[in-house]
Amino acid sequence: MPYSHHSHSGQFCRHATGDLEEIVLEAIRCGFEVYGLTEHVPRYRTEDLYPEEAEIDLQALHDQFNAFIHEAHRLKTQYASQVTLLVGLETDFITSIDLDQLESLLERHRGRIEYIVGSIHHVGGIPIDFDIDMFEKSLNKQSGRSERERMENFLCSYFDAQFQLLQRFHPEIIGHFDLCRLYHPEIQLSDYPRSWELLKRNISYATEYGALFEVNAAAFRKNWNTAYPAEDVLKIILQYGGRLALSDDSHGPHAVGLNYHRVLEYLRREGVAELWFLQACKSPNKAGRNIQAVKAPDEWWNHSFWNKWL
Ligand SMILES: [Zn+2]
Ligand SMILES: [Zn+2]
Repeated sequence: MPYSHHSHSGQFCRHATGDLEEIVLEAIRCGFEVYGLTEHVPRYRTEDLYPEEAEIDLQALHDQFNAFIHEAHRLKTQYASQVTLLVGLETDFITSIDLDQLESLLERHRGRIEYIVGSIHHVGGIPIDFDIDMFEKSLNKQSGRSERERMENFLCSYFDAQFQLLQRFHPEIIGHFDLCRLYHPEIQLSDYPRSWELLKRNISYATEYGALFEVNAAAFRKNWNTAYPAEDVLKIILQYGGRLALSDDSHGPHAVGLNYHRVLEYLRREGVAELWFLQACKSPNKAGRNIQAVKAPDEWWNHSFWNKWL
């Protein structure tokens, strides 16, 4: 104990640091029991490359992802006695090309991609978490006469994209559910009634097929006072019977387990009593992958693991 279902390394992601093996060694040193390796899927249009990727091309991105799957499985075997590594991926949905390509990518790596972190990082084809300028660009591309109308449409687009992703791929982990308000953590999503309904629809749908909602510590690094999702969304998840799983979403060895003590405080404050994690299993789930959600032992928050952090 405990667990993380979402991470990146500098070896396979331009905005992260450290080799994948260094991430794994740090996870072992920290006492993680289950640690998920989930690099981003490749992107398929030159205009979708990030500024930091200026010198790489689409083929290199594709090759890099294949190399990640290979290396992740090597590490999984090598360190099997010390940590359970899960090999997965984090989705992107910029245009429908990404979803079609994801389908063939999953087919190509069948059995080697153990689970999916379903995340949305774009609205209207523009990144919403890269920097504030791009976020504003994405927001202002929305129709609407007022700032408020544009924000509502922006949020609706985000939750509609998320819904498409859920319906088509049934990701086992719902990544940073409310990343859409990264630069505006003060936003109460219920103040935007149309998007609030879509959010509830998504939570209900994901809960029904058995997804785990990620409690993602990276929000603290981004100056939030909570993890993703913030209180309003967390309350709805709990109200709908949704299940939670931990992630550090680390982007380098320094961020492995970072702010987990704050996640713990947050969950305690919100009255969360149950945590879940992913485990390989014999029978395939709804998406055809051999992985299932398992309830963490009740003493998960009394475990000695936390002593290192508290
Ligand atoms: Zn992400
Ligand atoms: Zn990520």
